[in-house]
Amino acid sequence: MLYKKLSELTDEERGRIIGRGGELADVGDTVAAILKDVKQNGDAALREYTKKFDGADIEAIEISKEEIDEAVKNVDPALLAHLEFAASNIRKFHEAQMPKKMWFIEISPGIELGQKVTALESVGAYVPGGRASYPSTALMTIVPAKVAGVKNVVMCTPPGKDGTVNPLTLAAAKVAGADHVYKIGGVQAVAGMAYGTESVLKVDKIVGPGNVFVTAAKMQVRDMAEIDFPAGPSEVLIIADDSCNARMAASDMIAQAEHDPNSVSVIITTSEKLAEEVRDEVVRQAAKTLRTEIVATSLENAAVLVADSMDECIAFSNEFAPEHLEIMVEDSDAVLEGIEHAGSIFVGNYSPVPVGDYASGTNHVLPTAGYARIYSGLNIDHFLKSSSIQKISKQGLETLKDSVISIAEKEGLKAHADSVRARFE
Ligand code: NAD
Repeated sequence: MLYKKLSELTDEERGRIIGRGGELADVGDTVAAILKDVKQNGDAALREYTKKFDGADIEAIEISKEEIDEAVKNVDPALLAHLEFAASNIRKFHEAQMPKKMWFIEISPGIELGQKVTALESVGAYVPGGRASYPSTALMTIVPAKVAGVKNVVMCTPPGKDGTVNPLTLAAAKVAGADHVYKIGGVQAVAGMAYGTESVLKVDKIVGPGNVFVTAAKMQVRDMAEIDFPAGPSEVLIIADDSCNARMAASDMIAQAEHDPNSVSVIITTSEKLAEEVRDEVVRQAAKTLRTEIVATSLENAAVLVADSMDECIAFSNEFAPEHLEIMVEDSDAVLEGIEHAGSIFVGNYSPVPVGDYASGTNHVLPTAGYARIYSGLNIDHFLKSSSIQKISKQGLETLKDSVISIAEKEGLKAHADSVRARFE
């Protein structure tokens, strides 16, 4: 873990923190070969890669509704109630994001313009399942799709060595309303959903997070299926002043670090005292956590940085464009005001990232590796599209006629001009 004054970072250190996520390019060729194989060989290739990467021999690729019901029976009812509680918060938040289905304005007499919003027809949700299982991701990807009105929502998640999927993930798929569930993961799952196979329904769009292989695969299938955005190894940036509790901040850094060896946890603070305390706390807590190996590797990417002013913290955050941003400072509104690029923002000492990961209702599928600069986290718009509408009367067309004819003729498109003229002959 790097511990430094921001002003003393070398170019190499700064470049490493800001330019994280470069691993995508490294796996490009491996990913392309698997995609091609699945495109050509369908289910047979899916089975082969599931054996190779997940160590599982599978026959059926789809998990039937009966198997899902059976698995759900074995889930602790209390846990099921927590899933339902989380799903209901996620549903409420995404319903609030739903735009008007149809609207019109009259921009001048006889010219009515409007918009009609419709859902995508089929969406694939990738739910990771390699290092940990993510029932929460099933809720985060499927619930919004269903709120938007997507008819066919399919889910892919890798099986364990015994060829089965975590029952809680299946319970989450059921609670969220998945239409089909497939036990495949990684690049092969992305390929299956993008191209379709004998067993897997081809979808219009693939959403959901994953490791570098999954993320690189999503980036490579965009000619066949739209994707949400690169949502790779998780990361957190914490902006803090001396009002922040070091133990809390350190625990949030460890929480990110346990996701993936490539995860990144950074704190930037105006308080040197806090920085020292956080550094020591991270070391202390890392020794006591469960996934020690992943945490230790990922903490090699971590940094504790001391800035001279809050403005410097904000500028650094905007350059970093974090997936998760925690603001743990006295005047949080002033910092919030200055933030321009962040996937999801957690304000105050009592809004740790894990509440958004699981149950508060906001979405945890978020752009990583600086992509928050250009993409929004998963939301209702990812499942919708809109058509513009015009209803124009003869009087309205009269107002537009001269402009259309003049511009069309100047562009050399006489037939366009004639199409308008024909209405007045
Ligand atoms: P995963 O399901 O993404 O990946 C597992 C699959 O990776 C395997 O099934 C296998 O097919 C493939 N794979 C592994 N090694 C391979 C290799 N050498 N070659 C080709 N394919 C290979 O699960 P995971 O690995 O646990 O990763 C989950 C990731 O999702 C973590 O990085 C986590 O941080 C991230 N995540 C991100 C968000 C977000 O919104 N950004 C949310 C939740 C989780």
